[in-house]
Amino acid sequence: MIELTDDILAKVIKKRPEESHKGTFGRAVLIGGNYQYGGAIIMSAEACIHSGAGLTTVVTTEKNHHPLHARLPEAMVLNFSDWELLYEVVRAADVVLIGPGLGLDATVLAVLKGVLAEQQKDQWLVIDGSAITLVAKHQLSLKYPKQVIFTPHQMEWKRLSGLTIEEQTTENNQAMQEKLGATIILKKHRTEIYNGQTVYKNTVGNAGMATGGTGDTLAGMIAGFAAQFENTSDAVAAAVYLHSKIGDDLAEENYVVLPTKVSQALPGYMKKYN
Ligand code: AMP
Ligand code: MG
Repeated sequence: MIELTDDILAKVIKKRPEESHKGTFGRAVLIGGNYQYGGAIIMSAEACIHSGAGLTTVVTTEKNHHPLHARLPEAMVLNFSDWELLYEVVRAADVVLIGPGLGLDATVLAVLKGVLAEQQKDQWLVIDGSAITLVAKHQLSLKYPKQVIFTPHQMEWKRLSGLTIEEQTTENNQAMQEKLGATIILKKHRTEIYNGQTVYKNTVGNAGMATGGTGDTLAGMIAGFAAQFENTSDAVAAAVYLHSKIGDDLAEENYVVLPTKVSQALPGYMKKYN
C-alpha cells in the first residue's frame, strides 16, 4: 500500500524538453456528453487540456460543439455519427477516455463497442461514468485489459464488481481487480487505486468536492496525465492526488469546490512540481 503524498507529483511531472512539439505530449480522444449531460465532457476536456496533453479531440453530440468551442478553442470536435473519422482518430490516440455524460442509449453503446474493438496494443483506455455501467450491463469484454483504467465511484464499482459497498474491502477489491485485469480507481473520500501490483491510497480530498463534475474533471486529468507521462501507474496516481490536493487548497476559502476551478488552477500547480 502506497499512501499518496507530494512525492508522487515530483516523481511524475517532468520539465518539458526544449526540443519538443505537441506530438511529444500525447493525443487524447475524449468521448461523452449526450443531449442532457454535455457539461460533463466539456469539464473532462478542460481538465485534459489544462493538464498538458498535446492534442485533445472531443467526440460528443453536435449540440455540444458550439459551447465546447466557445469555452475551449484548444479542443477539436467530432460527432458520435462521424463513424469513419471517429475510429481513425481513436486508433491514432495514445489515450481514449469514454464515459463522462455519455448516457446509456443504443447509439453510444455502439460507439463503446467500437472503441473496445478498436483498442490498440499500447493505447490506454479510460472507462468512466455511464460507460462503466454499459460494460457491466452488457458484459462487454476487454481486448487489452492491462491497458484499461476504470474510474468507478462506489455505486459504479458495485455494478461492475457485484460487491456491495460494505463488501468493498481492500481484499475483495484486489480479488475483483485480478479477475478484471484492468486498473481500478475506486473514487470515494479517500480514493484507492488497484492495479495488480500496488494499492495506492489517497490522503487528501474533502467534502467540498462532492458536487457534479468532480469525477468528470478527474477523468480528464487521468487522460491528460496518461497521454504525456511514461509510467502510467504513477501518472494516474499523480492525477488522483493532484485533483484532491487542488481541491483541498480551494476548500480553504470556498464552501464548495467547483470542478472547473480545479482545472483552471492545474497549469499553475503543474509548474510548481516540475
Ligand atoms: P463522481 O461521482 O464521478 O463525480 O466522482 C466524485 C469525485 O469527487 C471523486 O473524485 C471523489 O473522490 C470526489 N469526492 C466526492 N466526495 C468526496 C468527499 N467527501 N471527500 C473527498 N473527495 C470526494
Ligand atoms: Mg462520474
